Amino acid sequence: MGGGGGGRGVWFGVAAGCAAAACVIAVALVSRRVKSHRRWQRAAELVAEFEEGCGTPVGRLKQVVDAMVVEMHAGLASDGGSKLKMLLTYVDSLPHGSEKGIYYALDLGGTNFRVLQVQLGGKGSNILKQKVERQPIPQELMTSTCEKMFGFIASKLKQFVEEEESREGTIETRALGFTFSFPVKQSSVSSGVLMKWTKGFSIEDAFDRDIVACLQEALTKEGLNMQVAVLVNDTVGTLALGHYHDQDTVAAVIIGTGTNACYVERTDAIIKYQGLLTNYGGMVINMEWGNFWTSHLPRTPYDVELDEDSPNRTDQGFEKMISGMYLGEIARRVLFRIAVESEVFGDVGSKLSQPFALSTPLMATMHEDDSADLREVKSIFEQTLQIPDIPLKTRRLVVKVCDIVSRRAARLVAAGIVGILKKIGRDGSGPSTSGRPRGQPRRTVVAVEGGLYEGYSLFRDYVDEAIVEILGDVAQNIFLKTTVDGSGTGAALLAAAHLSNRKSYI
Ligand code: ADP
Ligand code: MG
Repeated sequence: MGGGGGGRGVWFGVAAGCAAAACVIAVALVSRRVKSHRRWQRAAELVAEFEEGCGTPVGRLKQVVDAMVVEMHAGLASDGGSKLKMLLTYVDSLPHGSEKGIYYALDLGGTNFRVLQVQLGGKGSNILKQKVERQPIPQELMTSTCEKMFGFIASKLKQFVEEEESREGTIETRALGFTFSFPVKQSSVSSGVLMKWTKGFSIEDAFDRDIVACLQEALTKEGLNMQVAVLVNDTVGTLALGHYHDQDTVAAVIIGTGTNACYVERTDAIIKYQGLLTNYGGMVINMEWGNFWTSHLPRTPYDVELDEDSPNRTDQGFEKMISGMYLGEIARRVLFRIAVESEVFGDVGSKLSQPFALSTPLMATMHEDDSADLREVKSIFEQTLQIPDIPLKTRRLVVKVCDIVSRRAARLVAAGIVGILKKIGRDGSGPSTSGRPRGQPRRTVVAVEGGLYEGYSLFRDYVDEAIVEILGDVAQNIFLKTTVDGSGTGAALLAAAHLSNRKSYI
């Protein structure tokens, strides 16, 4: 009996033991689920906070538009009057299509360096032939000396010219357009001193020196018989090419490694140079809009930290929210914080902790991944960031972060463009400056160039969408046209236009 009782006890004990074990497992499961739920909640919270911080409702965009207009006025009123430098380019004639001959150009100012040759056939024949050679700028040159940097450029040009001449025979024209995409204070169309470096360049002995003289010296050292006819910014080159093909082009925007814009301004609106400018038409103004700032810009703690860790703190605030150099890095910072605070990416000792580990093109690839299982996201996380096996749910979160970063950037570009159009009376809001009756739509073209804009279609869609949101029906008359290699080609065209007897003043 006792045995029977003992048996019951054993059975009871076993049952109790099983129940307890099941309980432990259940508790463990529940606690794991609770933990995982909390992790998700934290990750989702961080993304929601970021999205809110990056908010660009149309009301805010219109405030950015107005701030852009105010700053443009201030920058035109006096030197140092605004964070927008509104630099004079001394370009008062744009190529018109009847230029003839062979011209060269150099394009320096970002990730790639380009050497170009353009052959122009004169009236009605457009660009007959064009050759472009691109190469990345060696990292060490970006922080070297003037002599080394310009020596490198001159040697590449010499190689290029020699190759061309070995094929085509001696080429007569020796005029060169130089695209140098950093803020330069120009004193003529073919001279100017560097004001500051941007986009990771830092060559100390370049300050206060005439950039054209530096290049000219290097060309002479190489034994190259060439004359730098024009010194321009990439935006100005892009505007020139845009205008060459379509005379309604009034502005140009660059969205590549950095961002900037230029436009055609009436000379009498350039208050700071009243009396000094002799022509009464227009002049291209290089805005240097990468440095634009207004408190209406949606700034998050990630932007603040990125700025604090940058070599050019408090500078280029607009650029740091928009351009290719920074978008991937903003996304990385957000993802890293999510990794640390929520552990949804597992081990945080990964590459995600390394500044600039996520480039903007990779960010764009993840954003545009349209496979059902987001396999591009998975593979970039595995290969570039060394984080394997992230679940689909987490991949979706990554795409969301990329979307927020890109959408804000694109919408701010749109606001900037509308700001320019408003300043020159092409946004449909004010009296027409062209003598046309108010309300009559006027076709307006903005030339846009840069690897980010060219290579990232969702970004382009967001720009278009925001322009329509801000301008409504007027947007039907606004056309953004992509140019390729316009920054360099345009410099060659400007060299031609400058040397031409038949200038077409703007
Ligand atoms: P640069 O500014 O040197 O003249 P580009 O206009 O070619 O160069 O722009 C290069 C920059 O554009 C790169 O640094 C990169 O950040 C960005 N970029 C290039 N391709 C893409 C792409 N497919 N998607 C997003 N960004 C891109
Ligand atoms: Mg460029």
